[in-house]
Amino acid sequence: MRYVSTRGQAPVLNFGEAMRAGLARDGGLYVPETIPAMSRGDIAALRGVSYEEAAFRVMRPFVGDSFSDATLEGAIERAYGGFGHDARAPLVQLGPNHFLLELFHGPTLAFKDFAMQVIGQLMQASLEETGDRITIVGATSGDTGSAAIEAFRGLDAVDVYILFPDGRVSEVQRRQMTTPTEANVQALALDGDFDDCQAMVKAMFNDFAFRDRVGLTAVNSINWARVLAQVVYYFTAAASLGAPDREVDFTVPTGNFGDIFAGYIAKRMGLPIGRLVIATNQNDILHRTLETGAHVKEGVTPSISPSMDIQVSSNFERALFEAYGRDGGAVAQLMGELAEKGGFPVSQGALQALREVYGSGRVSEEETSATIRDMARRTGEVLCPHSAVGVRVAETRIDRARPMVTLATAHPAKFPDAVEAATGARPPLPKRMADLYDRSERLVRVANDLAAVEELIEERLPA
Ligand SMILES: *Cc1c(COP(=O)(O)O)cnc(C)c1O
Repeated sequence: MRYVSTRGQAPVLNFGEAMRAGLARDGGLYVPETIPAMSRGDIAALRGVSYEEAAFRVMRPFVGDSFSDATLEGAIERAYGGFGHDARAPLVQLGPNHFLLELFHGPTLAFKDFAMQVIGQLMQASLEETGDRITIVGATSGDTGSAAIEAFRGLDAVDVYILFPDGRVSEVQRRQMTTPTEANVQALALDGDFDDCQAMVKAMFNDFAFRDRVGLTAVNSINWARVLAQVVYYFTAAASLGAPDREVDFTVPTGNFGDIFAGYIAKRMGLPIGRLVIATNQNDILHRTLETGAHVKEGVTPSISPSMDIQVSSNFERALFEAYGRDGGAVAQLMGELAEKGGFPVSQGALQALREVYGSGRVSEEETSATIRDMARRTGEVLCPHSAVGVRVAETRIDRARPMVTLATAHPAKFPDAVEAATGARPPLPKRMADLYDRSERLVRVANDLAAVEELIEERLPA
């Protein structure tokens, strides 16, 4: 299995190399050269198997000969062993034909754990083989950072730096990043918003000398291995609801487009997905793009669903690459316009291709809050604000002929203020992390200054 860049100018890599590289050297994102198919029989055979077994079968063809069966199996077993639910990704019914896929039973209570835990294990296996040392730098709107720190803490050959927007993540998110005591993980509070954090990480990757000196690696949702691990739960959910004999729709609370793009990969592999619905909060660049055909950045407005407060949706580049018939030159040009002019018009053909796969909806703060309150009353299910954005959009799109699955991307206790404001009750943390508020914190505040942050990282490299 070979991986190519969405901008067409970077070396073609295998799975292990693409995972290690993160961002491609031409600024693009790696995608598989061809997408392997799962037959109807393969899909039907997923019914009733463990999540780990399903993960192995779905991921195996993409991994090629980068890892042996035994290494991949071991990584998957260890990745999900620490989850707080035997099903890993259980489905709960919310109403007629509407199901919630709970993706928040991992160690940091958000869906990011599904991918990050696997990457941590695979990265470790790969470094053990080569004897290399790497530095992982990531930008987070809250959940990626905690998931990365949790997945890499204490690993020998990896240093982890996570940039988060100071004051713009929830207390639980911050504490999950600042309370681990292992010296190889460090949270950096940046004076700026999430897009500033993301831009700084991109700038580090474009500083090739620095990149090579520190062995820079990305585990942001641009990393192909993350997208791949997220493909699995689309299969397990749809198979439980009758795939391949029945089509299933999905609604996905969306920010950086990694999660929903995993659904697109599942569809291309042969999973009968009817519609993939993008649910956004007031930071609605993706919804506007699908409605109007103009992909135009506006300022970020902080919301009660902060993990979706972004205007630069990195993985959307992968969707554009497909919509433009895999024309890397065209994608490179669009990304240049986005950087220089703040936006670009999507061509008619590409817009049509996007609309054939994706629907979209936008939810206000008031509607998000009302949805948390109503769902708790009507079903007893307490939603986090991101999941509520998804549920609200999904409710307007449910088709009687097909089940709708909304992805619940985080546990309500990760966003207790918003949930309490909506329902009057503070959602408790699961028992296994009930002492989070008592642990001491450790963080470094940094200015929005590339050179200063690079220097900080280089100074801390082991001699
Ligand atoms: C990361 C995140 C999202 C957005 O997912 P993308 O893959 O970036 O689109 C939504 N909800 C929560 C809770 C998240 O942590």
